[in-house]
Amino acid sequence: MRDKYEVVIGLEIHAQLKTESKIFCSCSTRFGDEPNSNTCPVCLGLPGALPVLNRAVVEMSAHAALALNLTINQESIFSRKNYFYPDLPKGYQISQYDRPFSERGWVEIPTSERNESGHAIEWKMKRFRIHRLHIEEDAGKSLHEGMRESASKSYVDLNRSGVPLAEIVSEPDFRSSWEAYDYVQYLRRALQYTDVCDGNMEEGNLRCDANVSIMPRGAEKFGTKVELKNLNSFRFLQRALEYEIDRQIAAVESGERIIQETRLWNERDSKTYSMRSKEEAHDYRYFPEPDLPPLVVSETMIEHVRQSMPELPEARRRRLIEQYSLSPDDAAQLTDTRTMADFYEATARASANPKSAANWILNELVRELKNTGTDISASPVGAESLGAMIRKIDDQTISGKMAKDALIEMYKSGKSVDEVVSEMGGGQVSDEGAIREMARQVIASNPRQLEQYRSGKSTLLGFFVGQMMKASGGRANPQVVNRVIKEMLEGEGQQN
Ligand SMILES: [Zn+2]
Repeated sequence: MRDKYEVVIGLEIHAQLKTESKIFCSCSTRFGDEPNSNTCPVCLGLPGALPVLNRAVVEMSAHAALALNLTINQESIFSRKNYFYPDLPKGYQISQYDRPFSERGWVEIPTSERNESGHAIEWKMKRFRIHRLHIEEDAGKSLHEGMRESASKSYVDLNRSGVPLAEIVSEPDFRSSWEAYDYVQYLRRALQYTDVCDGNMEEGNLRCDANVSIMPRGAEKFGTKVELKNLNSFRFLQRALEYEIDRQIAAVESGERIIQETRLWNERDSKTYSMRSKEEAHDYRYFPEPDLPPLVVSETMIEHVRQSMPELPEARRRRLIEQYSLSPDDAAQLTDTRTMADFYEATARASANPKSAANWILNELVRELKNTGTDISASPVGAESLGAMIRKIDDQTISGKMAKDALIEMYKSGKSVDEVVSEMGGGQVSDEGAIREMARQVIASNPRQLEQYRSGKSTLLGFFVGQMMKASGGRANPQVVNRVIKEMLEGEGQQN
């Protein structure tokens, strides 16, 4: 059924810029403070109070715009978007309308459909166009108590009123829920790399709305679009899109007409519900904000921002593949955050073994971090320390098995690899004489197994190796052990 239709998705993302003060006043943007404690006449919308634009908002917006290849307009205009809502005390929101901060951007990123178990099928590079990025203020927050009961109450918290947002509007370029998912993931990473947004959908500092329509494959005119809201996590976004695509196809197949409306995702039921039809939609009566001059951004400032741009996630992913011969998957995981990528590159340098550094971070260290709920920026084992440990494996001072135990101990205690190894009784034993002596004892104390081995039960080699490792407290060099014990069991051993 899916094959008969083409899916068209456009995305609108609201990213909260992480300035310390609000967009038009000096109130704090701190999250979680006492309700209504971070307010003043400007963000309370009191008559006569005048907005003054926060310079940090412009700088952060410029970073975001350049990260998404948008052209920054030398002059943009703030407009009033008029509507009534209890948590919008002015009765309008200051936003941008016909002359936005920036326009015509794009990102080119890897994207893939996923199989039933959520694994990527085939990564392909695809370019998604971005229509615009404009600046606006956030509204306050309404909290409802006992929503469906007769004695329900509503509260308004205006701490969020006037918090700066960048609204990023894509072109309708997404053809599946996974393309949309990969794009939002990338956008979040780009905003985090440029340090302008925390990018946490669950905490609401990155919010996403989607427009979805379907049309018969090959058609030129898009179908009627439905707006989806309440997509509070990456998983919800993808699942809601998937549900909505199926719903629209089923409706069209049964002869129904899709109506233009806004629908809310309900995670509990895994369904979207109609919130309002567009017939009741607002007419925002936009007009230029008379209390703010046009926003003029100089070439000098844009150049200054350009100079201070970090390497962006996709560029860094490609460089890591090239420079350290990493697999695309490993490189993607290692560039998930800027701190992760920095940690990796520092470990690669300290260890002089980039491939091994990637494996130790992605397998062993990430597991410990997950188990203890720790971010890599606060890892008890630093990049230098992990690099030193990898060098000890490479020069055969310790075995891979010892290193795994050592890392867990280093993680727990914060000690260096040298301290931990010496507490474990010293490094790996590679001395052939010592290992030969140990092998003699092991063979002598297991005569029955020796006989079985010699009568053809060669699988018992594993048993002898195990006994050797046990006798050495795990410190014997496994390669030397394997070679020596085999030799002694088969040939030289017989003469003893
Ligand atoms: Zn204020």
